[in-house]
Amino acid sequence: MPSRSVRWYVRCPFVLVLLLFCKFVTVHAQVPTPVSVLGHDPGDDFYLADYDDAIRYFHALAASSDRIKMFKVGKSTRGEEYEIAVISSPENLARLDEYKAISRKLADSRDLTEAQARELSRTSKIIVHIDGGMHSSEVAGGQHSIQLAYKLVSSQGNPQIDAILNNVILVLWPTLNPDGQNMVVHWYRQNLGTRFEVSPMPWLFQEYVGHDNNRDGYMQNMIESQVVDKTELEYSPVIFYCQHQTAPFPARIWIPPFADPISANISPYMRSWYNVVGTQMSAALQEQHLPGAISQAEFDNWYPGFLDYINVFHNEISFFTETALYRYATPRFYTVDEFPKQYQDLKALTMYTDPWQGGWWHLRDAVNYMIAGSMSVLDTAVKYREQLLFNRWQAAHDNIEHFKHSAPFAYVLPNPQADTPEAALLAQIMIQNGIEVHRAKEAFHANGIDYPAGSWVILMDQPSSGLVKELFEVQHYPQAILDGSAKPVTLPYDVTGWTLPMQMGVKADAVTDPVGEDQRANLELVSQVDAPPGTIDGAGPSFILSHKPNASFEAVNDILAAGGSVAFARDQVQTSEGQETGAFVVSGLGRANLSSILEKRGVSAVSAAHSGDTIALHKARIGLYRPWAPSIDEGWTRWILEKYGFAPISIYNAGMKAGNLKARFDTIILPDISKNILLNGFKTGIVPSEYAGGLDGDGVQALRDFVQQGGTLLAFNDSAAAIIDLLGLPVTNILDGVKSDQFFCSGALLRVELKDRSRPGVYGLPEDPIVMFERGPAFEVKPGFKGAILASYPRGVNPLESGVLLHPEKIEGQAAAVEVAYGRGHIFLYGFKPQWRGQSHGTYKFFMNALYKYDQPAFAEMPPLEVARDAHAGKGASKARVEEEDDTPDE
Ligand SMILES: [Zn+2]
Repeated sequence: MPSRSVRWYVRCPFVLVLLLFCKFVTVHAQVPTPVSVLGHDPGDDFYLADYDDAIRYFHALAASSDRIKMFKVGKSTRGEEYEIAVISSPENLARLDEYKAISRKLADSRDLTEAQARELSRTSKIIVHIDGGMHSSEVAGGQHSIQLAYKLVSSQGNPQIDAILNNVILVLWPTLNPDGQNMVVHWYRQNLGTRFEVSPMPWLFQEYVGHDNNRDGYMQNMIESQVVDKTELEYSPVIFYCQHQTAPFPARIWIPPFADPISANISPYMRSWYNVVGTQMSAALQEQHLPGAISQAEFDNWYPGFLDYINVFHNEISFFTETALYRYATPRFYTVDEFPKQYQDLKALTMYTDPWQGGWWHLRDAVNYMIAGSMSVLDTAVKYREQLLFNRWQAAHDNIEHFKHSAPFAYVLPNPQADTPEAALLAQIMIQNGIEVHRAKEAFHANGIDYPAGSWVILMDQPSSGLVKELFEVQHYPQAILDGSAKPVTLPYDVTGWTLPMQMGVKADAVTDPVGEDQRANLELVSQVDAPPGTIDGAGPSFILSHKPNASFEAVNDILAAGGSVAFARDQVQTSEGQETGAFVVSGLGRANLSSILEKRGVSAVSAAHSGDTIALHKARIGLYRPWAPSIDEGWTRWILEKYGFAPISIYNAGMKAGNLKARFDTIILPDISKNILLNGFKTGIVPSEYAGGLDGDGVQALRDFVQQGGTLLAFNDSAAAIIDLLGLPVTNILDGVKSDQFFCSGALLRVELKDRSRPGVYGLPEDPIVMFERGPAFEVKPGFKGAILASYPRGVNPLESGVLLHPEKIEGQAAAVEVAYGRGHIFLYGFKPQWRGQSHGTYKFFMNALYKYDQPAFAEMPPLEVARDAHAGKGASKARVEEEDDTPDE
């Protein structure tokens, strides 16, 4: 029954018309629901919104409301426009630039007294980053951002949301990987209703790196990482929350706090807030009867390379959650007997407070858990706004005070050094990470060492210098964890050692004496570091380039493309870096042409007559094996080769099995791929038939023919171990079948020594390079071996430089890289990752030297083989590596 007042309105036609008009206006201004724009409600079974849908919806939302503004922040590899939504009260949005500036000021701390910082914390708003994830196969994240935006923008008069909008400025990224969201959703749509509805997509969901897009945090090789990091520095949020999906089964969501170990270089404020954020989230989930949250399991805070974690060094509370199920919008039913045994009793644990009991799990459930997580973070930001803001200032302030009184006081990157362009690149990477880098105006003296003018200096009394220490120092894994656990080998979630100067082959000295005022006066802040332009010295008929800078390979590829000739000098010759073997001798290109190439690449030439013995180089046709079971290592390799101008061609299974490879390629690379994936790929029935299978017998035979006919084959890590077996090489992988309690190294930096400097494969490398060892093989050559051991782990010395290596004695004296003569061709086996994640620049030469077409010199006589060691474990024990995607932990 209509109320009395309505009846009064109805009696008055003029008022009625006015009322209808107002009603019309209200309807018009109402924010659109997702279903009204998309035709589906994201989270519905069997439906996924792609990135274009998400952007369409966000724009519709922005057109209807003054609580949301859209900004374009960059482009993806495939050219998609990155857009972010900033959501807050209209009053806050009107002052957005001011609040961003305050946030940056508090994060920096230096221009504010404590009293000023307290006052700003009291009066300012708090900026929070939330995103729809970057692992696009974890599909719920991108659906959640749409629903979260709708919830915040559409609610009128809801006290919880009003408090959020009044206190928080939310920077909401629909996704951190637009290309991937489109790819994965289109793959799902294409297979929906077929027997391949839940099949994995047979290519990487981010160009080049796939899942490793979350391993590019500090290196910022990918333009996606650069877009995210640049935007973070601009908005300087206090909290960074990224959505992932792969909860440790049967948990429904993994939430902070993290498992140990945790980095010693992040602020203790951050460590405390991880606990607060996690505890608040646990209680919030309970309040909404969302069971199955687990914490302190699986995911640790050790490796700093995560894109969703790196900003912790800017004192942002950077973390993620892992909600259950991914890859599809198809519901699943779980029974308790499918749970791992230890969870079948459904008993509560301190960090698993309300065990999940099984049942249906829909995409909607995952979206709801994510919304609950995001809302909890926003509530926490409201509740602790002032303390969070002030702690941010304190964290930076404390850090600066610490490094005013404690070593290292600075790091120096000498300029010049053996590979100056790499040193310049390292300095530039630090700048991109928001670190202040200085350049010395005059030569100076520190720590008893003389440094030339132009050297780069990183002073440690700056707000985010914990990151510099984290990346530059040697990693020592906490002994308490190694000693205190019965199974230390399962502990590290990612690699354990990553010391960046070691990886990049760059000299960086820690300064242990305080930096005085006079020394500071000699420093100028730089905003961009480029390699000093290369020059030509002398006037001889040919030009000699040092083999030491990696950039020489870029220069050589430019020179070959421009029609010049290049050869390796086999004798010791003078280069800009001193006397060396294997320098590049350039001819057939005019001085002016060469000069412009060298200037751009930062490589200098000595111009002189060269009459010694040379090996002529020719551009090789390089094939890179690309399995349909997507290989991140393949992507990284392709990215590096393209960047250096090697123009690799992808070879898929069909191309390999078609044979006659020698007619098409000079060099073929097998990136780090397991034997099972190499041979079998995706099993038939898992993916549509055109993507099933691997090389199988035909592909292996084609590779054998290729090398026997004179081709060069390079095999990295697992592929090296596999190819020994598949081609029957006279080499043993001494780690085959060795259990992790007998030897363990899941990613650490190890020192090797070069065994035969006359081989072109090691030209340009230092005497004892440092390699990234990640669950690789180690080699011993058998009787009948013809070829060369290129590098070995030193005998009687622990090769560990950074990270964790258990039972070093197992590999001491064993070969790390081997060149095998095979028919008329050569096979290079690498028991490490010479191109690891685009970071291990110091070992690029190990494979780049093999990427030209040239006549390999004859092998020196091998010394007689030593008596075979006795401790080879038998076959049958499985490696620690997990292959099935569904079992692989995420993050
Ligand atoms: Zn993930």
